[in-house]
Amino acid sequence: METLPTPIIPIQDPKLAEKGVELMVKREDLNHPVISGNKWRKLKYNLAEAKKQGQNRLLTFGGAYSNHIYATAGAGQAFGFETIGVIRGEEHLPLNPTLAFASKAGMYFHYMDRATYRKKSEESVIKLLKQQYGDFYLIPEGGTNALAIQGCEEIIEEIDTDYDYLCCPIGTGGTISGLISGLKGRSEILGFSSLKGDFLHEEVVRLLKQYGIHYTNWSINTDYHFGGYARIKPALLNFIKDFEQNQQVPLDPVYTGKMMFGIYDLVQSGFFPKGTKIIAIHTGGLQGRAGFGL
Ligand SMILES: *Cc1c(COP(=O)(O)O)cnc(C)c1O
Repeated sequence: METLPTPIIPIQDPKLAEKGVELMVKREDLNHPVISGNKWRKLKYNLAEAKKQGQNRLLTFGGAYSNHIYATAGAGQAFGFETIGVIRGEEHLPLNPTLAFASKAGMYFHYMDRATYRKKSEESVIKLLKQQYGDFYLIPEGGTNALAIQGCEEIIEEIDTDYDYLCCPIGTGGTISGLISGLKGRSEILGFSSLKGDFLHEEVVRLLKQYGIHYTNWSINTDYHFGGYARIKPALLNFIKDFEQNQQVPLDPVYTGKMMFGIYDLVQSGFFPKGTKIIAIHTGGLQGRAGFGL
């Protein structure tokens, strides 16, 4: 069902040509019809590990619009796992499009109040969930763990052209960690934070250290969060609509739209020297467009 390697397509745009910058997009949004994007890469080895452990029940965490919840539900249905989604906050009916899909794919929802949700990685919370649901294979929020990083490294192995910058959007930092690991010190990796604040740099440092990765050829731009996670502004939506119309590449407003806006803005400002070659990773997330009327 997966379509690998995903294509790398050139973006033809006078705005880029004017500044002597070459931009390509690796279409990870096309890697799987349902699980799609970086979430497929992050789940792949986790699903294999769950099978190996003889677990047929997956439990994971996310917000009500989470691409990871959507992907895990789809993966459960495609590969024969029961899935439990621990959803932050209370139930809202009717279900939004993300949760409606997940429910239809067979996911059971456990709504968790925000205070408890913040402690979701603590032993006491996991123990309560195990008491309630029996044993399960636990996948952290956003799918980020060592096996996710291993899955994301494979994005790099599929790229057979040279480039100066590799760009990606950042949520929990798992994907950029995998890309950094896969690149082994080559090129520059530039991540665009979808969240407000500067804490992601430290978080990625922590992840890299935890997994024994020590390359330093990366940085995080925090200028294009548009107010924070899942926050949008008209300028962002307009950019996404124009980009789709001109390039026939759909973007999502939570992650890939903010990254691409950031890349274009940095190109305009002369951040990239003439002759720079950029590959942007389209990490998927297109299911989330419905929630923004796109
Ligand atoms: C989850 C997600 C991200 C963030 O990935 P992390 O590994 O959590 O940093 C980026 N883009 C899309 C489309 C996503 O769904």
